[in-house]
Amino acid sequence: MSIQSIRGFNDLLPAVTPSWQQVEAAARDVFAAYGYSEIRLPIVEATSLFARSIGEVTDIVEKEMYSFDDRNGESLTLRPEGTAGCVRAAIQHGLLHNQVQKLWYAGPMFRYERPQKGRYRQFHQFGVEVFGLPGPDADAEVIFVSRALWRVLGLQGLKLELNSLGSLEARQRYRAALVEYFSRHEQELDDDGRRRLKTNPLRLLDSKHEGTRRLLPDAPKLADSLDDESRRHFDALCELLSGAGIEFVLNPYLVRGLDYYNRTVFEWTTDQLGAQSAVCSGGRYDGLVETLGGKPTPAVGWGLGIERLLALLELNGLLGAAPAPHAYLVLAGEAAERRGLLLAEQWRDKVPRLRLQANLGGGSIKAQFRRADRSGAEIALVLGEDELAAGEVTVKPLRGEGEQRRVSLTEIEPLLEQLARQD
Ligand code: ATP
Ligand code: MG
Repeated sequence: MSIQSIRGFNDLLPAVTPSWQQVEAAARDVFAAYGYSEIRLPIVEATSLFARSIGEVTDIVEKEMYSFDDRNGESLTLRPEGTAGCVRAAIQHGLLHNQVQKLWYAGPMFRYERPQKGRYRQFHQFGVEVFGLPGPDADAEVIFVSRALWRVLGLQGLKLELNSLGSLEARQRYRAALVEYFSRHEQELDDDGRRRLKTNPLRLLDSKHEGTRRLLPDAPKLADSLDDESRRHFDALCELLSGAGIEFVLNPYLVRGLDYYNRTVFEWTTDQLGAQSAVCSGGRYDGLVETLGGKPTPAVGWGLGIERLLALLELNGLLGAAPAPHAYLVLAGEAAERRGLLLAEQWRDKVPRLRLQANLGGGSIKAQFRRADRSGAEIALVLGEDELAAGEVTVKPLRGEGEQRRVSLTEIEPLLEQLARQD
């Protein structure tokens, strides 16, 4: 049997790449509009980077990473997310010394998960990270950026869920209260829950196990452990969001699967994608830069799953088609083939943004017209022996009204310019 792609690793075929380009272009425009600069990072990093940042006792680090030994024995990992590498690079290149950085990235991420709709082993994210700003204005802005993306894409109905994890100390206090509570109900947890109780009790809050979920309403609330400053920060953020007309719901069980968050955590969710409901998730991670060896630097950001965003856009009929050629050049006879190919080059050279497909590989006039039609081109240009002798081209409209006519070679450029200007 011929070799197949690896499970969970997708080919993006020509039928779908126009949608990706549409979303990538929209994202680039939005990031630029808010003054974010792109950073491009390696796909492979030292395994210890992820263990130290994401946290040893997390789903990602425990069971989802693609790790392997390099030929020299060093453990490397295909990045499961973008924040760790971004922080590593910012520290390494001194981007954080007394300056604010507003960065964005895009690219593939890798997690060993059970492949299903909206969940792949190689998937793609956009992300933004803001360094050097401790206040709620930065939290608000990164959320504004995500909302702007929904706006330019025409996407409606995403729900913003919000929570505050408080300071690291407040989280420690809360952790102790949670352990105390769930230990009293240990027999009602599942095995995974009992393990989380020992290793990462906050994760009990987003457990999918029925018995565990039943315990949640009476569990201690994070909000009750919140330190004053975190509360002020959170209130100010909520006010900014409301002021900007962004609706949100407070979700006290939103803790996020990565260890590095403090204070604000949020998730944009949809009910249109089944269990794969998170489209964009993020929060504040003021401790991470220091954890990774940099000077203490406040930071906030998010990551967005591009496959899930595309699935949503498709479900809601918001994806445009790839642009068709303006013109298809039909070439009849050997002399016309030779001359036509060179003429096509001249026209492309002269007319900015012209999409001109020249017929390659010969074929009968009928076959060439069929190809012209299928290409979606606005017009066919026909060059045969007659036209060559007369220094003309036949212009045949392929869509809508309009008569076929002969046009001299000198008139063809203005005509093509007009077509190319139309979109
Ligand atoms: P989930 O709860 O769905 O596993 P997550 O909390 O693990 O998501 P993050 O680590 O916050 O996700 O990643 C940011 C975004 O990347 C998610 O909101 C989601 O849209 C997307 N994402 C995460 N894992 C996958 C995956 N395996 N396949 C496709 N998209 C993913
Ligand atoms: Mg996950």
